[in-house]
Amino acid sequence: MHNLLDNIQEILLMGPGPSSVPPSVSQAMAKPTIGHLDPYFIKIMDEIKERLRTVLNTGNELTIPMSGTGSAGMEAAFVNLIEKDDPVLIIKNGVFGTRMEDVAGRLGADVDTLEFEWGTPVRVDQVKAKLDHKKYAIVAVVHAETSTGVLNPVAEIGELLRGTETIYLVDAVTSLGGIEIRMDDWGIDALYSGTQKCLSCPPGLAPLSFSPKAVAKLEARKTKVPNWYLDLTLIMSYWKGASRAYHHTAPINMHYGLYQALQVILEEGLDAVYTRHLENHKLLVQGLADLGLDMLVEEQSRLPMLNSVKIPAGVDEAGIRSNLLTKHKIEIGAGLGPLAGKIWRIGLMGHTARPENVHRLLEALKQEIG
Ligand SMILES: *Cc1c(COP(=O)(O)O)cnc(C)c1O
Repeated sequence: MHNLLDNIQEILLMGPGPSSVPPSVSQAMAKPTIGHLDPYFIKIMDEIKERLRTVLNTGNELTIPMSGTGSAGMEAAFVNLIEKDDPVLIIKNGVFGTRMEDVAGRLGADVDTLEFEWGTPVRVDQVKAKLDHKKYAIVAVVHAETSTGVLNPVAEIGELLRGTETIYLVDAVTSLGGIEIRMDDWGIDALYSGTQKCLSCPPGLAPLSFSPKAVAKLEARKTKVPNWYLDLTLIMSYWKGASRAYHHTAPINMHYGLYQALQVILEEGLDAVYTRHLENHKLLVQGLADLGLDMLVEEQSRLPMLNSVKIPAGVDEAGIRSNLLTKHKIEIGAGLGPLAGKIWRIGLMGHTARPENVHRLLEALKQEIG
């Protein structure tokens, strides 16, 4: 019988995710599957929690990977924290802020939005003005907006909310493992991420962390969490305590992958990892400038791990992306929404952020743009 898996080619993943996976993570995922209540697996779970706390700079007890991709993390954060008619502010400047608005709205929240032009960062003075005239149960923002390449001022927004009753919810899907996150220092109450961006693990888990304040809001709910699968009040009885109760079968081998991905990052050292992302970003931006290509985002708000490049007039953007993939075995991303056809999105996420990859892409682009 034929087998399509025999012909999968290795592609250098320089798009908006997934990123290229280091061999040690792939090998970890190929280890023998053991039971989800096996005491040895529970040891692995406990160390994953500890390692996630380290990379997030948090002491939050409720820090676990949710089963599912980054969007499951988003859904989990909102579904556990929102009760019907809760006033929620979504600060948005791209696709993922817009997705937050959709998720919160479906849960019956009373959603306000504060929108900024795609490609520009959130302006803290405007957030302050918004917060000055209304009290919100939850304020949510995306740290690294993968659809545009913009870094949002998460710490500064946290400062505005300090000492209030508002829950501060942050999407760290693309930022985790690429730029520093100080969850406790920045006053973040609920945060979620995903495995396939800067953690360089295949897609499948969504690290999530809730502060004691977020846990208190969860425990004070008047109604059940409206989604059984993502209900943290149930899931915590599997992730904590002496006797672990079955809720759903943990995706065992995905957890091996995440464990190893965190091992790789912590062995390199968090500061070294962030510096490597920044240096490769600078190398890429310089190389693109040498090819006559400009960046979408102004310098002080650029993400190192997601680089939005303006497509020059007369260039066949889809054709070049297709040639990069078929001829050069490199994947880059297209623009989304209002930026479709206007930008390419070049990822330097996790394991992918290396000079040899930057040079390989620049060489290929040079050939294709001519
Ligand atoms: C990728 C991404 C998500 C969604 O994650 P999936 O793994 O695709 O479900 C959410 N937020 C941001 C900022 C992302 O980059």
